[in-house]
Amino acid sequence: MSATILDGKTLGLKIRESVKVRAAAIKDKGIIPCLAVVLVGEDPASLSYVTSKEKALTEAGMESLDLRLPENTSEEQLLLVIADLNKNDKVHGILVQSPVPKHINEERIIAAILPEKDVDCFHPVSVGNMILERPGFLPCTPYGVLALLREYNVPVSGAHVVIVGRSNIVGKPLANLLIRREYNATVTLCHTGTKNLEYHTLQADILVAAVGKPDIIKPEMVKEGAAVIDVGINRVPDASLPKGYRVCGDVDPAVAQKCGFFTPVPGGVGPMTIAMLLQNVIEAAEWRLK
Ligand code: NDP
Repeated sequence: MSATILDGKTLGLKIRESVKVRAAAIKDKGIIPCLAVVLVGEDPASLSYVTSKEKALTEAGMESLDLRLPENTSEEQLLLVIADLNKNDKVHGILVQSPVPKHINEERIIAAILPEKDVDCFHPVSVGNMILERPGFLPCTPYGVLALLREYNVPVSGAHVVIVGRSNIVGKPLANLLIRREYNATVTLCHTGTKNLEYHTLQADILVAAVGKPDIIKPEMVKEGAAVIDVGINRVPDASLPKGYRVCGDVDPAVAQKCGFFTPVPGGVGPMTIAMLLQNVIEAAEWRLK
């Protein structure tokens, strides 16, 4: 069997094009959608993430306010930066790239962002609104996974979705969204306390891996014909490459021979996360207009 590739690169570009049209329309009304992107320190992976986000914003005709702060920025200094961005009417969204240096309490920083500018949907109020199905942003990676499933008509209603990983940014919010009536899935959430992981993954009509461990999902753990969504982005050392590493997901690529739908890494969930971030920024700017 050969799996249908869930092509996040192509769908992501389509979404970014539609955001560009909306950004142009709102610009005609005098508003330039703007995301403040805050990076503290010089972690190379974080730097590469923020650079791609900033590039995508600019390409979509939106403004990216890039704030690069030194590693030794104190928590109080960062809170002052957030307070300024909250007050700035020209800024519609605020993103603080995770992880922040260890001496800064990330929860305090996220809680300081105004929920109406919290385009990552990490603030406790945003998370509460999402669970209660009240208006607000949806978190970018889970939102991107849902958009991919919808685009490729993967049957979700009544499906058994097994998610491996219960993080606040992927597993937990995705599980919450999938149990909404509009998706109507039955969800099992697995983690390090799960006994016999394979027993659960084998039951999945849709299997989502959000673990952060290369190739942890093997073909023998996947039901024939299942949809497999690989959220993982892992850097594996590879001296033969100029960068010295290669990027791979949490799913062994051999799984593609067995499943019905498959997301590549790179080119699957990653580009969708950026596209949904742009969508949240344009929505934030449109709300301001209203
Ligand atoms: P976290 O480290 O926050 O969470 C990992 C989760 O996996 C935890 O819930 C952990 O369980 C679980 N886990 C770890 N090992 C096992 C195991 N052996 N068996 C079962 N469960 C296990 O990671 P994130 O959610 O932040 O990220 C996960 C991956 O997704 C990473 O590779 C990250 O880079 C990638 N990512 C990709 C994005 C994208 O845009 N494509 C966006 C965000 C993340 P426990 O809770 O018990 O510790």
